[in-house]
Amino acid sequence: MNTPNPAPDSAAKQSGNPMDRFSVENYQRPVLDTPNGAEKVLMHSCCAPCASEVMDALAASGIKTTIYFYNPNIHPRDEYNIRKEENIRYAQKLGMDFVDGDYDAKNWFDRVEGLENEPERGSRCTACFDMRFERTAAYAAAHGFNLISSTLGISRWKDMDQINGCGQRSAARFPGMQYWTFNWRKQGGSQRMIEISKNEEFYQQEYCGCVFSLRDTNDWRVSKGREKIQRKVKFYGREAVLSEDDDTEE
Ligand code: SF4
Repeated sequence: MNTPNPAPDSAAKQSGNPMDRFSVENYQRPVLDTPNGAEKVLMHSCCAPCASEVMDALAASGIKTTIYFYNPNIHPRDEYNIRKEENIRYAQKLGMDFVDGDYDAKNWFDRVEGLENEPERGSRCTACFDMRFERTAAYAAAHGFNLISSTLGISRWKDMDQINGCGQRSAARFPGMQYWTFNWRKQGGSQRMIEISKNEEFYQQEYCGCVFSLRDTNDWRVSKGREKIQRKVKFYGREAVLSEDDDTEE
């Protein structure tokens, strides 16, 4: 980041909410510098909501960004499709290139075999991040990028150190490749992520992605007396309504 960010306080003073100065409307985005001087970045993306603030920040900084959607962890296939299509929609809106990675789910299940009962943020997630970032780094190396990063770190549900460690390990496999460990949450990034998601009415997933996270989230909900997840019905900024094709499973 090469400029300070004297965000205007007027909106915050008027509303009484100090976080208002970080809103999409009021925030004066700083111009970001890449850590290695790269003019372009291959950004691994997990979903449109997490990617939205990151994409806006990169676009505002004039950093040429290609979105790399590689997430064979997402289960089932129709859930994967809806998350991917939302991300394509936003990439098109910003005029960013979008690379549609393989949905090689069998490889993912092979990779996490024996880790099915690990908790979220545990060793199954490390294997999951490793797999996705290794493929990201390989694609980057083959297509003239020397900088990669991921939108995964913006989520408050994630362990940023775990993600950065996986990213750096994957980048180290390719000479000259760097993983950008920028903290996309700070300066109100998490808040703007929600704001943009509401403005765009993005699909709102309620579990991380894999079949085990779906299982564990449902178990937790049931233990709290809550209903199980209904997939494909919640969108940011809208009331939850049942979609007509809710029984579609691929
Ligand atoms: S919980 Fe999320 S990060 Fe962990 S293995 Fe499942 S999909 Fe991957």
